[in-house]
Amino acid sequence: MAMSTIYTCDTCGFEVDAWDDGNPYVQDSKGKRHYFYHPENEIDLMGKLREPIPLPTSNWEESEESEPFFGIHTGNAPDHLCRKCGKISQIDPEVDKMICKKCKSDEVTEVTSLAGLKCPKCSGHFDQGSEGGIS
Ligand SMILES: [Zn+2]
Ligand SMILES: [Zn+2]
Repeated sequence: MAMSTIYTCDTCGFEVDAWDDGNPYVQDSKGKRHYFYHPENEIDLMGKLREPIPLPTSNWEESEESEPFFGIHTGNAPDHLCRKCGKISQIDPEVDKMICKKCKSDEVTEVTSLAGLKCPKCSGHFDQGSEGGIS
């Protein structure tokens, strides 16, 4: 179960929905990320991913020990708001550059920490957040 907090600009009403569990994902061997927003989808997703990934046949013994799911990376890329252009980017702080995917600005803030910050769309500021949805 995840909960969201909605931060609203006190001047223009711009809203950002912040989910407390971020965006967990599985990255396949081609580097494409598959996001899953609800834990029960994880099993389906892993099932889907397993097929197209070629298992290393020759060095299987060696790779099995260190990395049974060769080529698969899992992580979490929470939504980050660009404070220049207002676009949301999904950034995994452990592997990604902390920049906006649209304008390349490095003024990105994780959406769960927006309380009191300046709105990217006007000169107003975000409120302290109000309870959003539960999923
Ligand atoms: Zn605003
Ligand atoms: Zn931007």
